[in-house]
Amino acid sequence: METTTNQTTKVEAKPSIYSLQLEELKNWLKDHEEKAFRAEQIYDWLYKKRVSLFEDMSNLPKSLRDKLEHNFAITTLKTIIQQTSKDGTIKFLFELHDGYSIETVLMRHDYGNSVCVTTQVGCRIGCTFCASTLGGLKRHLDSGEIVAQVVKCQQALDETDERVSSVVIMGIGEPFDNYDNMLGFLKTINHEQGLNIGARHITVSTSGIVPKIYQFADENTQINFAISLHAPNTELRSRLMPINRAYSLPELMKSVRYYINKTGRRVSFEYGLFGGVNDQAEHAEELAKLLKGIKCHVNLIPVNYVPERDYVRTPRDQIFEFEKILKNHGVNVTIRREHGHDIDAACGQLRAKERQEETR
Ligand code: SF4
Repeated sequence: METTTNQTTKVEAKPSIYSLQLEELKNWLKDHEEKAFRAEQIYDWLYKKRVSLFEDMSNLPKSLRDKLEHNFAITTLKTIIQQTSKDGTIKFLFELHDGYSIETVLMRHDYGNSVCVTTQVGCRIGCTFCASTLGGLKRHLDSGEIVAQVVKCQQALDETDERVSSVVIMGIGEPFDNYDNMLGFLKTINHEQGLNIGARHITVSTSGIVPKIYQFADENTQINFAISLHAPNTELRSRLMPINRAYSLPELMKSVRYYINKTGRRVSFEYGLFGGVNDQAEHAEELAKLLKGIKCHVNLIPVNYVPERDYVRTPRDQIFEFEKILKNHGVNVTIRREHGHDIDAACGQLRAKERQEETR
């Protein structure tokens, strides 16, 4: 494992230009007596050439570069820790303009490079297995702060002439609790003049905010959709995920069926295996029954031990047994490969560690 740590200094509080979608940037230019076509040139500098300074946008007039500089920052993220795992996974800890920190993970697969982004500082959902929720929600990220995470990862890959090929919104925070910023982010990274990451290479995951599932279904995107399920029945899910008390399992499954009917796409269910809690044969049987007839895929996730929580890993044989039961019932299932095992790879661990050090 290789770790790089930078001194923290506050970065500028001007809004990030990454927050503007192409049309918004055109409108901003018109409002500032500039030509709308400049928006495409600016997008090219931001997302294709990935410059870090407005002064490097050499085909823009100096007066426009000055206006941009006066009104925006390019990125508002400052890298304070960068850990590289033996398997190539890179975990970043970024500081925001107001001193909060967030995590982003760049995973290296045989089939490409995937970025896991954070959407909030902390989280208010309160899943009992999650370190990210321990300090509650501090604030939402704006769309520019989410976009900047992908750009930072792409800049790291530029050194080896590689590209970010997929994005998962599964880092810290509940994306549907920050819906509009998440949607702005999706539009920018998907835009062909933006980062041009195909919708089918983007995955958004929710803990189950049911009204937003209906809203997202009605957006009718081709983006992959995942639900953090983690339990096959109401009682167990309420114990693991308090959101289940606000939006019950039957309500959740009804909204998932609506999503599938509306989009024609299958959904993924994330199922973390917690030793002795939800990983028994009877749970697998119950899960297969719950998902019967639903066009879906199940991702089994052997959880990392979270120091602040009591959950332990499921033994290897039992993971395979759980998978086998689902397969025998015709459920499409895979066991998720783990990344960055030698770094603080579980959601929120790096940030939690940093916070502990800050309070020492
Ligand atoms: S698992 Fe996700 S939704 Fe649940 S508390 Fe953690 S960050 Fe929030």
